[in-house]
Amino acid sequence: MEARVKFVVDLLSQLIQVNTTNPPGNETPAAKLVAEVLAERGVEHELVESAPGRGSVVAWAESGEPGPSLLLLSHLDVVPANSGEWSVDPFSGLVKDGFVWGRGALDDKLSVAVMLRAFLDLVESKRFKGRLIYAATADEEMGGRMGAGWLVENRPDLVRADYVLNEGGGFEMPGKRGSVFLVQVAEKGVYWFKLAFRGSPGHASMPKSGDNALLKASRAALAIASKQPPPDVKPYVKLMLEKVLEAQGIPAPLRPLLTSKLGLPLLLRASGEAAPMIDAMLRNTLAPTVVRGGEKVNVIPSLCGLSVDCRLLPGYGEDWVRGYVSRLLGGSGFELEFTHRDAATESPVGTPLFKAIEQAVASEAPGSTVAPYMSTGGTDSRFFRRAFGTVAYGFVPLKSDLPLKEMLRMVHGIDERVSISNVEFCYRATLRTLEAFYKLA
Ligand SMILES: [Zn+2]
Repeated sequence: MEARVKFVVDLLSQLIQVNTTNPPGNETPAAKLVAEVLAERGVEHELVESAPGRGSVVAWAESGEPGPSLLLLSHLDVVPANSGEWSVDPFSGLVKDGFVWGRGALDDKLSVAVMLRAFLDLVESKRFKGRLIYAATADEEMGGRMGAGWLVENRPDLVRADYVLNEGGGFEMPGKRGSVFLVQVAEKGVYWFKLAFRGSPGHASMPKSGDNALLKASRAALAIASKQPPPDVKPYVKLMLEKVLEAQGIPAPLRPLLTSKLGLPLLLRASGEAAPMIDAMLRNTLAPTVVRGGEKVNVIPSLCGLSVDCRLLPGYGEDWVRGYVSRLLGGSGFELEFTHRDAATESPVGTPLFKAIEQAVASEAPGSTVAPYMSTGGTDSRFFRRAFGTVAYGFVPLKSDLPLKEMLRMVHGIDERVSISNVEFCYRATLRTLEAFYKLA
């Protein structure tokens, strides 16, 4: 194994062994591990805690030459792992059969290690311009407010950047005519809300003695689930669909037809396992998820709450939600309260960093192309896009060397692992991206 790849594999294994399950997080020991590597090499850095135990580490270097600032961003915390379901100890960091095993092997300790290696390469060889920043942060899995969000708000001096390279994209979608690597350029907004329905109590032995709030909530849940907001296909989503169709060998004249309003239902029918993901990129979505009502089996409930997970495309907000729900449910008979609001964010395509990613993919994965993509969930990129107008992309390049089903089972699931050949690919393509970026920027 090449020395720098071995560095990444060893560090990844060590990071997995530091249990940073969030909650509670307790990322400081992992931040210290990274800080030690930086200190050994005399790189300027700071370990900051948003609260006791909630450590993030930030390192930086100035080239002395004018140029853009670029931040390599990753997170130290992981989601819980139920060791009883795993075939190895999830915090062993075991290197076995050509794989590194454990919670965080993909999400996101791989990035912590790969980005650190690439950062050191560029700093030690002085192959960068402007300010190059590295940050491995706390709390991403619980929303990032104690990690990246905290740094953006409290220590912009450390993390403000023109460009951010983060998680959230980079995976390969194999097709019949080559692969497409997806770069996350946008993420949907989160607008969780609660609907409260009121009725009047009664004895349940006489169902008509009261006004049943549970039935009102049920009818609302059905109404919300049985109708979909119309599609609003953002240009980068259209571009992604066309690139994926091209990789599938669909002839050029058919592609715009399939991504037109009329063609979309056909496209979704043909998308198989990917259909739910594609569908959610095309429109605002609403999913009723929690219903709370009723106290006793023999009492007609007079109050019932229905929670809805609503995700909005860029350009939509609270007013759209209120209008849509009112029209759907007939305007009255409920109260709507938002429990969480976080607007969608997006970055432009076609920047020097996007072009650098295209060049890196062309050279590290010949015959493959790059397409922008919008994630339906959020990442820490949103803090930077919002606060600084940063161009932030999700790009942790990974080949699909395991079946898609297996990959999906691993992230936030069981037996999370990454092949050493993929660690190497991730490192090489990341470094190549940065080298190309400094030629273009
Ligand atoms: Zn993650």
